[in-house]
Amino acid sequence: MRDMPELPEVETTVRGLAPFLEGQRLTSVITFRPDLRRPFPADLAQRLTGATVTALSRRAKYGVISTDRHDHMIFHLGMSGRWRTEGGAAGKHDHLLLETGAGHRLFLHDPRRFGSVDLVSGDPLASFPAFVTFGPEPLSDAFDAAYLAQALVGRRAPIKAMLLDQTIVAGLGNIYVCEALNMARISPLKPAADVSKAKLAVLVPAIKAVLAAAIAAGGSTLRDFLSPEGDLGYFAKDWRVYGREGESCECGGTIARIVQSGRSTFYCPKCQR
Ligand SMILES: [Zn+2]
Repeated sequence: MRDMPELPEVETTVRGLAPFLEGQRLTSVITFRPDLRRPFPADLAQRLTGATVTALSRRAKYGVISTDRHDHMIFHLGMSGRWRTEGGAAGKHDHLLLETGAGHRLFLHDPRRFGSVDLVSGDPLASFPAFVTFGPEPLSDAFDAAYLAQALVGRRAPIKAMLLDQTIVAGLGNIYVCEALNMARISPLKPAADVSKAKLAVLVPAIKAVLAAAIAAGGSTLRDFLSPEGDLGYFAKDWRVYGREGESCECGGTIARIVQSGRSTFYCPKCQR
């Protein structure tokens, strides 16, 4: 089963790229086609070539490469994107090259081209439109049970849909929401406003735990993740419910698959109420 890169995969990508880019001057910035999901910024090469990378960071499922010119390149991996760090020549699915003063050649590789690259000036948190609408980071202290309870007041949509709403919490995707709801024993179908405060107090740490575990697992498989031959994959292969329709939940119930908003939801009808 394939799904798109989620927050832990992007976090691991950013951590993996940092040693190649931080403090490095970009000596060459080349695009090999005009667009991914949307066109590359027309002035991408002009604005980034010669700039020094000051920091790498992540916001939701976006990576941010910041420079000493106060320009920030913001990338999204879409469905199938990854960065290739081994250098060499550009391959068929390599669409952007960053070359550094140390001689590293980093290719943005994206066979399905649902990813994106944008360039913003100044504070990206204030100037990149998507970031302005985002809710808090799930791993931040701002995302706690009190915040979530307030955000869900009066919301009749299923709790699963609300957790995927980036304006409520930024960066959660299908897999980790399924996993966290199972861990917290909450039905994905339950109207969000009806989830008790006691349950939210279990859910929030569950969300943080599934993300942190995936990031920790990612650190040990970083080499594979950045490899062009390796499947993008996911770090945590032993999902609790995701992709396990018909198998047993740890409570003894049988894991079901339903479709919500066009996406597969895996859950245990016995223990998730
Ligand atoms: Zn169960």
